[in-house]
Amino acid sequence: MKKVALVFVLAVFVPSLVLAWLAVRSLRDQQFALERQQSLLCQGVADSLAEKINGLLSEHQRDFARQVEALLADSKPLDIAGAFDNRLRQGWPLAEVGFVVSLDGQVYSPDLFDRAEARRFRLENDKFLCSRESVAVYWNSPKGAINLSQLDQKEAAQPGQQIYDNNYKFSKEQKQARNVMPQQTLQAAIDNTSRISPAEAEFRQLVGDSTEGTVARFLQNKLNLMFWYRPSRDPQLVFGALLNLPRLTDDLRNVVSVDPQSPLNEICVALLDDSTRVVATTKPVFRANWKRPFAAAEIGEALPHWEVAVYLLNPGKFSQSAQAIKATLGLLIAVLVLAIGIGGGLIVTDLKRQLALARQKTDFVSNVSHELKTPLTSIRMFSELLADGRVIDKEKQRSYLGIITAETARLTRLINNVLDFSRMERGEKKYNFARCDLVAVVHETIESYRPHLEQNGFKLACELPESPVFVNGDRDALAQIVVNLISNAEKYCNEQKEVRVELCRQERPLPHVEVRVLDRGCGVPKGCEEKIFEQFYRAHDSLSSGVQGSGLGLTLARQIARAHGGDVVYEVREGGGSCFLLRLPVSPNWSE
Ligand code: ADP
Repeated sequence: MKKVALVFVLAVFVPSLVLAWLAVRSLRDQQFALERQQSLLCQGVADSLAEKINGLLSEHQRDFARQVEALLADSKPLDIAGAFDNRLRQGWPLAEVGFVVSLDGQVYSPDLFDRAEARRFRLENDKFLCSRESVAVYWNSPKGAINLSQLDQKEAAQPGQQIYDNNYKFSKEQKQARNVMPQQTLQAAIDNTSRISPAEAEFRQLVGDSTEGTVARFLQNKLNLMFWYRPSRDPQLVFGALLNLPRLTDDLRNVVSVDPQSPLNEICVALLDDSTRVVATTKPVFRANWKRPFAAAEIGEALPHWEVAVYLLNPGKFSQSAQAIKATLGLLIAVLVLAIGIGGGLIVTDLKRQLALARQKTDFVSNVSHELKTPLTSIRMFSELLADGRVIDKEKQRSYLGIITAETARLTRLINNVLDFSRMERGEKKYNFARCDLVAVVHETIESYRPHLEQNGFKLACELPESPVFVNGDRDALAQIVVNLISNAEKYCNEQKEVRVELCRQERPLPHVEVRVLDRGCGVPKGCEEKIFEQFYRAHDSLSSGVQGSGLGLTLARQIARAHGGDVVYEVREGGGSCFLLRLPVSPNWSE
């Protein structure tokens, strides 16, 4: 049995637990993968918006070049240089100040005394534009990548700072970092590793041999964004414009939107300026800690430290639903493990029962063989004595013949029980139901048994009613019940040789008849009151009690009684011994 339990634990229970553990693990991985997928989607949204904004800036840059070319169309560059500020602003509202400088350090426009904006521009930018001083600028030329070494400003790159290419995307390593880092760590990494860094440079160095470009610099914490263009007709002159930031911002606002069809409808996208102020947002009423986006992408050197940031409208929702899925799956796994446990328990119990039954069957075979052998030995011995003619005394001859008859009857009873049991097991047992007087059946059975009992020193008393009690039943089957009960009373008498049979009619709860077979024997041990009705079960072991039996007598008695709508039960007899009660229903029509 222990071996079976061990096999069950090793073959079913442990693998089930391992499977459950693997399922929980894969669920965790699944949750991680889902979070990662969401973060990738959000990053995609931020990246594509940043690209759009860059596209818009490039478009403005090209537009500016077209404006300059249009102004130069009918006159020489130097002729319009002085009036460039006024003429540019008239045709191109995005310009706040238009300027013209020559690469040898002469400023032609705007006029220092023209207007306040122009004066301020000249004061702030003259030295830089005339290449008389180096300033910290963010520089971008559509022609190629920024390379600080080109500017001969190696010292400008601080240790740890990176030199970025011009495709406005995070480098591969940064993207990987984004994908695996928790959000807070990621944000910290973003804060510390902005890919945009200024370089100290003079204007002439920035221009180099390019024809156009963008320069951004911070003056009193305010971003100044300039476009410049060199006409091919006079490459010594550089035409430029300081951009009107509020107007540019208005343009950018139209770009910041999310596709309503997007699966990411639960996000807010915001364009943040260099001071992390919201310039434009897709959800104007949404509020968040703007410094902690779920995903973000920087715009580029044209708008340094500006970024497109993505926020989750309900950051807890994702983890909540993941938790709910996890809890449901956990519950399912727990139920599964419990079901396996209970199923295993039931299998083990059933196995135990089957083993006990197999053992009982083996005992049954040896018991029956023994029961057959004992009467056969007696029959053979006494019949041989009689056949040899060695017994002359008539009285002895009668006695021997009596023993042979009794032993034959015992054999017949045993064989009948075994045959009936196998018929019942196969469902082939047939009853001849007919109206019969139970008092007469019991009386006849007792009287046929009386000589045998009295010969063995038993006192047999019976108390039967005068009037018949009719039941619907099979006479022989009912007689078999009474025989089995009396035979047991004889077998388990424990030297108290008295047997009593009572029959009485009861009216409550329904009219029925009760037959009691009582003895003063050893009684049924406690806890075995019901088990004795199970097939092959013997409460008194043959070896210890010395009483032979098959364990079928009571099983048959109960099955027959139940087939008649009644039952056989055991009751403790007052004053010691057993009381077996046969109960059968009586139809009022049949009792007289
Ligand atoms: P068996 O052939 O062993 O007698 P039964 O089915 O007739 O088989 O009885 C089952 C068991 O019930 C017996 O082995 C015995 O332990 C117990 N039993 C039956 N009748 C009595 C009785 N009158 N007194 C005590 N124990 C009894």
